[in-house]
Amino acid sequence: ASAPTDPPCPPSTPFSFELYPPKSDAAASALHTTIDALAAAGPDFISVTYGASGSSRTSSLDVLRYIRQATRVDPMAHLTCVGSSHAEASSLIREFLDAGVQSFLALRGDPPEGLTEGDTFLGDLHSAGELVQLIHRVQAERVPYRETPIPGLPRARAVKTERQHVRIAVAAFPNGHPRSRSTAQDIDTLLAKQAAGANLAITQLFFHADHYLSFIQRAREAGVEFPILPGIMPVTSPGRLRRILELSGEELPSELAIQLEVEPTAEGQREIGIDHAVTLARKLIAGGAPGLHLYAFNQHETVLTVLDRAGALAPGRSATAAPTSSMPRPSDV
Ligand code: FAD
Repeated sequence: ASAPTDPPCPPSTPFSFELYPPKSDAAASALHTTIDALAAAGPDFISVTYGASGSSRTSSLDVLRYIRQATRVDPMAHLTCVGSSHAEASSLIREFLDAGVQSFLALRGDPPEGLTEGDTFLGDLHSAGELVQLIHRVQAERVPYRETPIPGLPRARAVKTERQHVRIAVAAFPNGHPRSRSTAQDIDTLLAKQAAGANLAITQLFFHADHYLSFIQRAREAGVEFPILPGIMPVTSPGRLRRILELSGEELPSELAIQLEVEPTAEGQREIGIDHAVTLARKLIAGGAPGLHLYAFNQHETVLTVLDRAGALAPGRSATAAPTSSMPRPSDV
């Protein structure tokens, strides 16, 4: 393994993590330990995935509640359009808001197992943008509408409204979504999500910093203004690499694949995955990325090692410290 050539990330670099709901009671208790360790590092938020057709509704909500109650970290709920009527989606959003969740990742979702793109699987909402609008509307209905007259101005223009806003992230695809016909379509989709009211994007995993940086340039030129967080997945075994390529449709990163295949030990493979993620993280921050979003696979050691070696873990930094991030937070977006 070679040492990264890019400078370390500043210790104030914002970062966040993604987890998935546990599949057993034993996994749930292990996940609490992981969340405690991740929270102690001071992330901006921890996001929790949502299973196809709402299969993880209760378990996702349990994890989000734990993050909210046991830590000072902002929990972010993934939600999808799959299978819900308008009324069901609204009531689901209300349930999450009632649980104190103020940050969402709005997704279209993939066809549930056994179904394909051509099947009907979405319900009343057909795109992530429609879900973004619905979250804003449900949130707006909950908060009393207040008008403050501004002295000296005609009544029609003389009010300011005060609303508590939510943070709504959406997905972005630096190497294109598998269903997308062109790069332009991916950028247009992102613009539509911005127009719908999204204020943050998180990318699909990718393996080369240039892929992210050139995507950002195209998105900015097209008028996308919100921060786009790069999603980083430390790939610590050949099996994991095969599985994530299958799920994401990303192209095989041949150099990393060969390194993982020829390394005989699990510990050596883990080091290769960490090195790759550290190099990527440093290049991204040096290239102007607004932060780092790490796919944690419900384990804290690997992602915390990546952040530490990348330089992003400040000693003493924690979720109780004052926020250092310039990324939108639920209260100020
Ligand atoms: P959209 O933005 O609506 O579309 C994505 C792309 O597909 C766009 O480029 C669009 O132009 C193109 N497209 C859409 N419809 C068509 C069409 N009919 N024909 C041609 N092109 C089309 N899934 C889950 O189920 N649960 C999760 O928790 C989850 N978390 C995720 C987290 C991240 C960070 C990311 C990147 C993905 C996640 N996904 C999750 C996967 C996501 O649901 C899928 O990628 C889904 O296929 C697209 O969702 P979207 O919100 O990007 O859709």
